Amino acid sequence: MGDLPENIRGKRSARRREVASSQRSLQYKQAEKEIIDIVRKAGEEGVVQRELWKKIGLDSRRGIKIIRRLEQQGIISRKEIIYKGRKTYILKPATMMKARIVIPGFLDDIPCMFCPELPRCESNLESALTCEVINKWIEEKKKRDDP
Ligand code: SF4
Repeated sequence: MGDLPENIRGKRSARRREVASSQRSLQYKQAEKEIIDIVRKAGEEGVVQRELWKKIGLDSRRGIKIIRRLEQQGIISRKEIIYKGRKTYILKPATMMKARIVIPGFLDDIPCMFCPELPRCESNLESALTCEVINKWIEEKKKRDDP
């Protein structure tokens, strides 16, 4: 490793940083999805923010960032409450979550949904267009839909 030219070492460490960033982004999206599911299930009864961290095993600092974003997007609403003698928030579905969005069933098996490279492809169409995985999935879908 110590004998590798500097440009190769640089590329490897850049790639490692890219992978780590993709993994963080994926974890963030998974945590966001779990929060949305829990708040949706809680309905008008709501869920106590402090209890939410325990349910999904998320640290509050990262969780609060997600909650704020969902609040800004109108997906959840937050109201201050006192719970077990301490200030926290009750989280409930907001307008955008209540709006009935029908997601086509075929989206469930799009490989991108579970791919750690998604953040890279989001900002780089070229990488999505040349991706073998997605192109194979499209071909197979075409065959299934149009035998
Ligand atoms: S296009 Fe390919 S690499 Fe990009 S997110 Fe989808 S499956 Fe992953």
